[in-house]
Amino acid sequence: MIHHERLRPPSHDYPADEWNIIEKGFHPEFLAQLETMLAVGNGYLGMRGCPEEGGPNAENGTFINGFYETRPIVYGEEAYGFAKTGQTILNVTDSKIIKLFVDDEPFWLPNAHCLRYDRRLNMQSGTLDREILWETPAGKQVLITSRRLVSFVHRHVAAISYQVTLLNAEAPVVIASEMMANAPSTRANEDDPRLASVFAGRVLQHRASYAKDRRIVLCHATEKSRLTLTCATDHALETACSYTYKAVHTEDFGQVAFTIEARPGCPIHLTKYMVYHTSSTASSEELCGRAEWTLDRMMHQGFQPLLTAQEQYMDDFWRRSDVRVRNIREDRMQRSTVEVQQAIRFNLFHILQAAARAEDTGVPAKGLTGQAYEGHYFWDTEIYLLSFLIYTSPRIARNLLTFRYKMLPQARAHARQLGHRGAMFPWRTISGEEASAYYAAGTAQYHINADIMYAMRKYVQATGDELFLRECGAEMLVETARLWLDLGFYSERKGGAFCINGVTGPDEYNTVVNNNAYTNLMARQNLRYAAETVESLRATTPDVYNALVHKTALQPSEVEAWKRAAECMYVPYDEQTGITLQHDGFLDDEPWDFQNTPHDHYPLLLFYHPLNIYRKQVIKQADVVLAMFLLGKEFSAEAQQRNFVFYDPLTTGDSSLSSCIEAIIAAQIGDMEKAIRYGMAALLMDLADVGGNVKDGCHIASMGGTWMMLTYGFGGMRDDDGTLSFWPHRAPEENAILRFPLTYRGQRLEVEIGLETVAYALREGEGLVIRHETEDIRLTPEQPLAVRPVSRR
Ligand code: BGC
Repeated sequence: MIHHERLRPPSHDYPADEWNIIEKGFHPEFLAQLETMLAVGNGYLGMRGCPEEGGPNAENGTFINGFYETRPIVYGEEAYGFAKTGQTILNVTDSKIIKLFVDDEPFWLPNAHCLRYDRRLNMQSGTLDREILWETPAGKQVLITSRRLVSFVHRHVAAISYQVTLLNAEAPVVIASEMMANAPSTRANEDDPRLASVFAGRVLQHRASYAKDRRIVLCHATEKSRLTLTCATDHALETACSYTYKAVHTEDFGQVAFTIEARPGCPIHLTKYMVYHTSSTASSEELCGRAEWTLDRMMHQGFQPLLTAQEQYMDDFWRRSDVRVRNIREDRMQRSTVEVQQAIRFNLFHILQAAARAEDTGVPAKGLTGQAYEGHYFWDTEIYLLSFLIYTSPRIARNLLTFRYKMLPQARAHARQLGHRGAMFPWRTISGEEASAYYAAGTAQYHINADIMYAMRKYVQATGDELFLRECGAEMLVETARLWLDLGFYSERKGGAFCINGVTGPDEYNTVVNNNAYTNLMARQNLRYAAETVESLRATTPDVYNALVHKTALQPSEVEAWKRAAECMYVPYDEQTGITLQHDGFLDDEPWDFQNTPHDHYPLLLFYHPLNIYRKQVIKQADVVLAMFLLGKEFSAEAQQRNFVFYDPLTTGDSSLSSCIEAIIAAQIGDMEKAIRYGMAALLMDLADVGGNVKDGCHIASMGGTWMMLTYGFGGMRDDDGTLSFWPHRAPEENAILRFPLTYRGQRLEVEIGLETVAYALREGEGLVIRHETEDIRLTPEQPLAVRPVSRR
């Protein structure tokens, strides 16, 4: 239900354009939002969309995924086993500053008289482009164009191509390229629990700094997490105007200033290369050396090949991933086809920017667009993001699952700490250790174990990557299944059913509850998958099975115990109403007084003490409704309808993870009006600042959810029984056409859903079988196309 204004029209719209997010003028009031929205990144390195001049900034930010500092978590009242160490992603050395002076006057946006202004996130080329025509107070016209990119191909590299041309006069011009570490934060510690803590003082300790000709190298390290970072820049200047230059540096600062005698019509073209290398093991000398090698390579190859490689990477990405729409009815959707297309691409592009080169790390909740949620990895990755990645960029999906596998030792230790067998993945983390300082809405979300296994199962089914299952997956399955068996118990009072008490489900407004239906259903699948996998390995690959037994000391009796727990799993259900209960006592709680909750008191977590919330029937985000999507087979069509009608009015959508899921189920039960409203809220979450906090970073989970909404929701795609099947409900509205590609078992399928028909086309591959409604269809290179009528359910 829409209880507050999360669907209000955007306060600042961007011109409709299929491939670009365009800012047509400088709007100081949207500074922070645009820094997030126009951020560029590659999953390893991210830069907020601040102007080249180094300001004005709302919250400047350069982030390296997984580069964090720790701090002790201070509790008013300690208890055994609480997480002790907080982890916060750091705002690292800012290298993108290029200051411009004409006749010694600084170019500074708030004061500048701009005759032309165009800044755009170009989602086709993967660049942030800007073109400004500035008229100085002396009437000199200066054309400034720039192109910023964080390379997808060269993981450690960012570059800016910056060009200045005086159009109508000559003038002395200075272009000062700078870099700065330990810049003071513009943020104070606020009361919003979603924001990151601010460290007092210098967090980056100086290790080395030097300049060589036009190159500057700054090396810093963190004190407690013991990570080292080298940031280095180098410059190439091309111009027919005469110039000199000078480089200076201190511990935290570097500058190369070019002084140019600019002549009218004579372009000055500066290329700035920015390189970041980080390590927990290499010495600062070695890291500086690595940064210099990368810079040497960049200086040698130049900007154009870097840009071409970026464009090719993007072409390839869109070929595998672009979801296209046609014939959107503007009166119903309040957006034109072009605007919907733009929003879809914006979501998909930011997912890529968050995940592409996240190798050996996870994906932070905000990607690398902001510091909120401290750069932590949550279940967002597995439940919201991985579907998109599995079906479009399986290599990235594999990397993310491998990263979880590497966390297994800490997950085992975490389980021990909480007195459990097996492994317990942390609710939020960077290093692999639990960093949640609030166990009720954090550590108690045991479902993360099952979420990771759910995503892995989907990955293995969609890719056929049995090797991953054998080498990493099976071990995770054994340890997670052990945890469930240890956590739950057979309850006599519940007729001997297997119950799991004292956990928090996805909905953080009902914490530490008994038998959260989502958790129990997901745990059941985790247990079954573990048992199936172990049994199949035992039967088919004894070597692998023996190695697994060796690694985990697995006893055959354990597998039997998992199967039994799964069979006896308790799922709370109310006979009278036919509702699957979110948890045991949910119906006993007092209803939340929505009528008397002011519209501006959402999200509730910022206005009410948790206890006020926890004891009421009020839901932050889809919980049973999410289970109905992920495990659709467990619910009949009637049960889905009943549950949605019951839970929807109680769901505030205070988490951005909710709307996309509500849209999917609304579409599934045929409530198209709600499907569209929720769908638009998810689609525009960041572009229209639906939650009012885009300034703190993009909502990456919602972006992944948007893809699921289009494919699973409107496309009727399903894969939870191991077959790729489609039962399209309806295109987003009557005449719309929805088209999306999928990579399945190394082949490329394209699905186009129209009003009357759905077309399946095999674009690459040897042939595959998919299911349309109840019919199996075989697509082959000889017969690559199948068109079927859509029967509405
Ligand atoms: C949501 C969680 C989510 C986290 C990070 C919270 O507000 O309730 O489900 O994992 O944000 O996105």
